[in-house]
Amino acid sequence: MPYYVTTPIYYVNAAPHLGHAYTTIAADVLARHMRQRGEEVFFLTGTDEHGEPIAQAAEREGLTPQELVDRIAPRFQALMPELEVSNDFFIRTSDPQHEAKVQEILQRVYDAGHVYAGTYEGWYCPRCADFKTESEIAEGNTCPIHGIPLEWHEEDNWFFRLSAFQVPLERLYAERPDFVLPGVRYNEAVSFIRQGLDDVSLTRARLRWGVPVPWDENQVFYVWFDALLNYVTALSYARDGVDLTSEFWPARYHLIGKDILKFHCVYWPALLMAAGYEVPHRLFVHGYLLSEGEKMSKSLGNVLDPFEVMDKFGPDALRFYCLREVTFGQDGSVSTTGFEARYETELANDFGNLASRTIAMIGRYRDGTIPDAPVDPQLEPDFAGLGETVAARLDDADVTGALDEIWQRVRRLNRYVEERAPWQLAKDEARAGDLDVALRSLAEGLRVVTVLLHAYMPSTAERLLAALGRPALQLTTARYGAQPGGQPVEAIEPLFPKR
Ligand SMILES: [Zn+2]
Repeated sequence: MPYYVTTPIYYVNAAPHLGHAYTTIAADVLARHMRQRGEEVFFLTGTDEHGEPIAQAAEREGLTPQELVDRIAPRFQALMPELEVSNDFFIRTSDPQHEAKVQEILQRVYDAGHVYAGTYEGWYCPRCADFKTESEIAEGNTCPIHGIPLEWHEEDNWFFRLSAFQVPLERLYAERPDFVLPGVRYNEAVSFIRQGLDDVSLTRARLRWGVPVPWDENQVFYVWFDALLNYVTALSYARDGVDLTSEFWPARYHLIGKDILKFHCVYWPALLMAAGYEVPHRLFVHGYLLSEGEKMSKSLGNVLDPFEVMDKFGPDALRFYCLREVTFGQDGSVSTTGFEARYETELANDFGNLASRTIAMIGRYRDGTIPDAPVDPQLEPDFAGLGETVAARLDDADVTGALDEIWQRVRRLNRYVEERAPWQLAKDEARAGDLDVALRSLAEGLRVVTVLLHAYMPSTAERLLAALGRPALQLTTARYGAQPGGQPVEAIEPLFPKR
């Protein structure tokens, strides 16, 4: 089954920061893992470029909105290769093809009778670009996300009949208890729907920076609807002359942060139903990376710069740390001291050291060739079903759980080194056979964990697999004992040197 995974498209009113990197890294792990399983994968990320905050920022800087987004979007695009992210396309909502497709789809929604003219009034957060319902207003009429005062807005515009999808949405959630993961977020979406859905404003009258409404020249589409549709429009033009929609839609996973749950878990499936599309298979809602307990964001000024971390330690260490330190789906704290501790104890000591020792001992005791001996059956229970377990975790987007499964085996292999003490075996000619078994088993275990870690730390895994004689990457080969002995190994520099 083709596998389509997306990140939210990132709003270009700020420079890229760790929050953007986080979702993208997690999506990349899923995409790379599914490719190792031989699936057809399409992985989408991109930038959200319309709306009032951009228009206002451009005006402040004396630029047109297009000039402003043309300046910032490339920084997000450049982030992807730096993070070793293997996205198949990068969408920008100012792409003319996206705009045309948005108009086509929303015209269809209009023609089907899901849109009507009305007057909107309510409290509005310009940063969220969203009207707030009663329960979403924080103390003193402020935005609970941004902490800024809300503005009273009144305007004539076009409404999407969201209330008509109350029953279909309730049915969808009743039929598909895993539509939104983790469960706490599913419950949040369900209770939002059960409160009763009001119709929502589909267009904006005062604004020019957006996709024009085809049936009303005085309006543009509300940026959220334009943005949500990227998940569908991208498939229609990502490949020249090919429409990938029928191959990849519905998406297998939309990964999102919890601050955009309402749009993705309520508005989005309703809009898709109105436009005659299937809803996605699943949405996974992750938490926040916190810095000393506060959400990390540009507007709060507590940004841990992913570029600095990558400059010093490389992208793989950043990828590992984000997914290892904070359980994907929950909130958790990240810090430079936490990063350095994991780098030292887990990357340099647990994994880097295992790789260096294993290869060095094969070099020293067996002339750089993995012995053609049987693998030690003692490690078999530790590795039995590991590939399947990792796959099952990642089917649920449990990127932290899968990584933990792999890491338990990294630690098991380190204990095995201590138990067997190959340097002792090497002193006794009569135990040459035992030494062969120990070295072959270590090489095999190391190969298996490295194949599985490839999705998390691609360039580190590439280097190590090259030193191990370039074994296959397919997930089916991640079985202890699957690769015969007799392969030459090559010495390598430390994978995670001291900094
Ligand atoms: Zn806000």
